[in-house]
Amino acid sequence: MAQSKRSVSPLLALTLLMLLGSVAEAQEHYPSNFSPDLLEVEAVRNALGWLEENFPNQVEEWIRITEIPAPSGMEGDRARYLKDVLEAEGVPVKIDEFGNVVATLEGTGEGPTIVFAAHMDTVHPLDVDLTVTRDEDILRAPGVFDNSASLANMLAVIRAWREAGIQTRGDVIFIGTVEEEVGLVGMAKWLEANPGVADMVVALDGGLGSVAYGALWFSGRRYIFRGEGAHTLQSRGRPHPAVAMADAIRSIYEIPIPRDRDFAVYNVGMVHGGLVQNAIPQEVWFTVDLRAVDPALVDELGEEMDQRVTRVAEEQGVELERDPPMAERAVEEAVNMLPEPERRRHPLVQTAVDVYAHLGMEAPPRNTGSTDAVAAVRLGIPAVAMGRSRGGDQHTLQEWAHVPSALPATKAVLLVAVSMAGLDPLAHPLPGPTLQF
Ligand SMILES: [Zn+2]
Repeated sequence: MAQSKRSVSPLLALTLLMLLGSVAEAQEHYPSNFSPDLLEVEAVRNALGWLEENFPNQVEEWIRITEIPAPSGMEGDRARYLKDVLEAEGVPVKIDEFGNVVATLEGTGEGPTIVFAAHMDTVHPLDVDLTVTRDEDILRAPGVFDNSASLANMLAVIRAWREAGIQTRGDVIFIGTVEEEVGLVGMAKWLEANPGVADMVVALDGGLGSVAYGALWFSGRRYIFRGEGAHTLQSRGRPHPAVAMADAIRSIYEIPIPRDRDFAVYNVGMVHGGLVQNAIPQEVWFTVDLRAVDPALVDELGEEMDQRVTRVAEEQGVELERDPPMAERAVEEAVNMLPEPERRRHPLVQTAVDVYAHLGMEAPPRNTGSTDAVAAVRLGIPAVAMGRSRGGDQHTLQEWAHVPSALPATKAVLLVAVSMAGLDPLAHPLPGPTLQF
């Protein structure tokens, strides 16, 4: 090659180097186990093909599952449905002591164990009509989106897997969990009863559109104000629990939430009190539901609320009780949680992002979460949540779900499972020399 006659000035060269350096810094490389070459493997191709062909059956089953009532704590009928259909197909499955349905697709023992968890419970009481109506691409019924869709997706993945004869190195465990809606109970209990089993956890929950790898911390409290009370005619100038409550609510809504910190939000959801119209109430109360990604922020905001409410009660001369009397400190509960950069760098996160991108869906990683994955994140186990379909109005009677989007959501679950558990190279001879598992 000919030598260039022009030379680059040292200053320009230095500037270019610095620019390149900052570009490299901005685009941190996150490891991923997904390779498009995976789709060249016959069994994986067959499994994806099977999912497409059987999608109408998957939708039928989705409707069937939705119509089985399963309020939190009463998931038994749904659990038996899952167990029966899996058993009929020869999948090893059991219902554990907590009511979770657990099915295992065994690996060769040479890879990590990945757990997929879809909660079975709904927020809808037994007397709610769960009949599903279909309007072209939309299904409507309470619970059809949250989380019946994920249960149907999960069953479809298990069937496609076995139909195509996929053999992974690591075990893949599928769990239908109980009582997610009332505090991730079934998942947390399973993790506690099976320490060291799950190397990774994927919650099948939520809509499509992101890969959540964090944990939202919760803190709930109720402030109760009490006073002597008085008839309206004697009420002027007397301590007033309702006035204290009003001041307290206004005061806590004036707490500045730091913008430079992670997401935080709170809500006064219940207010209650008073027995008659013509007297100062002797007791009133309100609740606060406080959530933040940063456990320290949950504690700080909670303490600030306590101080403000205490001050207001003193000013008004009424008694204050807090329920529970002491909040658990989120920071203390979060001791096992991995720091954010470490959680982001685990290959599970980028693998899920890459799988979605490959299937034509944008799903940016997000440091948050309020699904069964959170129970794992809190224990320091790498975990993400993967969506079930598009849809909305969950936890209402108008709940709906978009049917076609459940197919790529299901394919994504299968591809993440295979990518993370690793294909057994003996069972699946690789077509190209570039493939490495
Ligand atoms: Zn849910």
